[in-house]
Amino acid sequence: MNDGYLRKVFPAGTEIFRSGDLGNCAYIIDEGEVEIGIPLNAHQTIHNRLGPGELFGEMALIDDHKRIGSARAVSDTVMRVITSNQILDRLHHSDQVIAFILRITLMRYRHLLQQMRRAEESAAKESAAEKSGALGDPAKDQVATDHLAMPDSRDAVAKLELENELREGLDKGELRVHFQPLVALSDRRLVGFEALLRWENPRSGFMPPGAFIPLAEETGLIVPICRWVLGAAAGFLARFQEASGRPARDEGRLVVAVNVTKHQIDDSETMQILDRIASEHGIAPEQMKLELTEGVLMNDYARTRGWISDLKGRRIKISIDDFGTGYSSLGYLHQFEVDEIKIDRSFVIEMLTEPRSMEIVRAIIGLARGLGLTTVAEGIENQEQATLLRAAGCDCGQGYYFAKPLAEAEILARLQAGAFGFGP
Ligand code: C2E
Ligand code: CA
Ligand code: CA
Repeated sequence: MNDGYLRKVFPAGTEIFRSGDLGNCAYIIDEGEVEIGIPLNAHQTIHNRLGPGELFGEMALIDDHKRIGSARAVSDTVMRVITSNQILDRLHHSDQVIAFILRITLMRYRHLLQQMRRAEESAAKESAAEKSGALGDPAKDQVATDHLAMPDSRDAVAKLELENELREGLDKGELRVHFQPLVALSDRRLVGFEALLRWENPRSGFMPPGAFIPLAEETGLIVPICRWVLGAAAGFLARFQEASGRPARDEGRLVVAVNVTKHQIDDSETMQILDRIASEHGIAPEQMKLELTEGVLMNDYARTRGWISDLKGRRIKISIDDFGTGYSSLGYLHQFEVDEIKIDRSFVIEMLTEPRSMEIVRAIIGLARGLGLTTVAEGIENQEQATLLRAAGCDCGQGYYFAKPLAEAEILARLQAGAFGFGP
């Protein structure tokens, strides 16, 4: 059996650990029997026998303190050894609230045992003092418990509160999608929008996605949130298309790009939603574009490839977001049926001052062209960047120079007024 844990054999009668030893591992008994002794006071010890499947020494996993009790193999015993490093590594990657609850529970248990022991000791001292007529020094009797300070619960509690607020916020309609225009660099024509999530949190005010998406990912709330974003983005796109007065075909067709995470690839409802929303809102599947980062693409290679293939079968477009920041190999590019590369903002920022960044931008555009993909540059903040990118052959641009992400009412108003000009 190989489950990654070391196995140790203790012959009958072996002492596994003693009270006061430094502990850095726990044990699960596979075979045999172990006797645990937990001293209550100088004279009394609680004895307990444990058999296969049972765990002991677990407190050392969390705080590396000295062993309170002792353990001895009653018969020949085989045990799995779990080191504190193995547990701390798992705790580090686990939900913060679960880790917090585990730490607190073990600490309370340790605290309780210490208090019981102290009560027993002072009772014994009192009766001895009574007999001799001497008075003890209470300060001296105080057992140092500083090292038992509780872990800070504020982070975990704040996180729980935010999670509940977000859950409620989703139900109460506090989430919003803002839309940032995507502009054709050749003629500064509006070609579509990227849908960007916002949260109007009544307690903390307006929140950008960076402030709550990581929590949503951790808690699984990202799934219902992203389902909602897809529907909202499609619904608004239909209204934008109508307000633009353009025919919803060829050059006149607006697209909406939606960010997706690996959770959407795992969510079987994503495809059904995509099928439903396109027909519900009367938009063509080609008007929907999904943005995936390189990390998402490579997360579960075979699955993502199949998923993208299903999207292509539906004529939905795929874009690689933050290109150049996530994955060091380009070998994956031809393996996925993607349509577009989004050049990351970091290259666009450095392009003007750092010749090598300009070369990287040119190389990305050349690579995309060679593979028959279009390019979008993110984070264009000035005219010079827009001009250089156009000269380098980049198809589209997005950034504060053209427009910041805007609420749908503003997009509608501008479209109706025919005021979506991006000309220099
Ligand atoms: P992203 O997909 O790279 O989105 C572009 C971000 O760059 C947006 O930030 C946008 O406001 C910002 N940006 C655009 N142009 C400029 C510019 O010229 N200068 C500067 N400094 N920034 C610019 P935002 O809206 O805060 O979104 C941050 C990230 O949150 C997004 O990065 C995306 O990864 C994630 N996100 C946003 N909405 C959603 C969503 O609906 N679903 C998922 N899964 N992720 C989302
Ligand atoms: Ca994006
Ligand atoms: Ca991006």
